[in-house]
Amino acid sequence: MASSTTRTIVRAVKRDASAGAWIFPTAASHNQGSNCARRSRGCLVMADQNVVTTAEEMVDFKQVRPHLVILGAGASRAAFPRGEAHGRKLPLMADLTEIVPVAAILDKSGIDWHGKNFEEIYSLLYDDGGYERVRSELENAVSEYFYGLQLPDTPTLYDSLVLSLRQKDVIATFNWDPFLIQAFQRSYCVTHSLPTALFLHGNVLHGYCDKDSYQGLREQECPRCGKQFQSDKLLFPITKKDYSSDASINKAWDVAREALKNALVVTVFGYSAPASDKDALSIMSDAWGKPAKRQFELFEMVDIKNQEEVVASWKAFIFSGHYRVRTTFSESFLAIHPRRSIEAFLNQYIDAKFLEGNRVPLEAKTLEELHGWFRPLVEAEVQN
Ligand SMILES: [Zn+2]
Repeated sequence: MASSTTRTIVRAVKRDASAGAWIFPTAASHNQGSNCARRSRGCLVMADQNVVTTAEEMVDFKQVRPHLVILGAGASRAAFPRGEAHGRKLPLMADLTEIVPVAAILDKSGIDWHGKNFEEIYSLLYDDGGYERVRSELENAVSEYFYGLQLPDTPTLYDSLVLSLRQKDVIATFNWDPFLIQAFQRSYCVTHSLPTALFLHGNVLHGYCDKDSYQGLREQECPRCGKQFQSDKLLFPITKKDYSSDASINKAWDVAREALKNALVVTVFGYSAPASDKDALSIMSDAWGKPAKRQFELFEMVDIKNQEEVVASWKAFIFSGHYRVRTTFSESFLAIHPRRSIEAFLNQYIDAKFLEGNRVPLEAKTLEELHGWFRPLVEAEVQN
């Protein structure tokens, strides 16, 4: 990873949570200019006023509310069904003991791990209190495995995902893997207007300075105090996931709460609200509020699981029929309206327009091709 690009992900997160309006603008005052632009284009080409064309969508850039994307393990599995750049598999908690080399650590400690969920094993060790050294070895093994994972050189779903959002938007991930950060690093050559990234369960590449509320890569130094960022804590006992015990994760949740309160569209990708993480669900549900008070928002779920099962797991967040369920990212609102998802949402659901859309070319063969496709969208933002 080139240090010149990695440095750019350092960003102060202090303002995000303490002054939501700064990073989550809700001002409608900028709408007028964009509407004028659309009307004048319509006059020139006699376009159907009820249709937002692809070209119109590209330049339809306003100060709008954020789009929040929440990623779970299913997103990384969907992105790399056959493993990452070197073919290494992405473990879930259920099969982590078979993929990450932790068996030897557990065996030598006489711990029966066969057929057990890794989180449950870790919790038992934690509750027992006498396995501090084993827990530390497990944490190192898990961290080392995930740290070594690498995005392939070709475009991935993560590249499209990161570039499909703007600086006002937020991606909150439950994943430890480094793919989101690696996608950020190589997207910076296209634009710096990228979403805020939050690591709700910690991340192997991520570091944080609690004193100054700066986040970056774990080997980087805080730009304010000059000290190396503190690595995230990855493992928590399943029975009491005390997120406040880690400063970085605590901050991520603070900002995630603000993002949930402010978001107009939420897309949950590959995260099925597991019963084992009741704390996460309850924090999110409190921040989102009662569905009856979120009648204008859209809650979108992208998951390969059975639709009814997916909707049932998120029913506390859904008002009436204001939801979409899709099985792939390519069908998501974000992939059809990249970098303009909220503008498109307003056009479709508030102004009752028909949208042509501007689908992300997920079939792009090279990063240059994908980046080249996004550049006109970014340029339209700069011009506006
Ligand atoms: Zn600092």
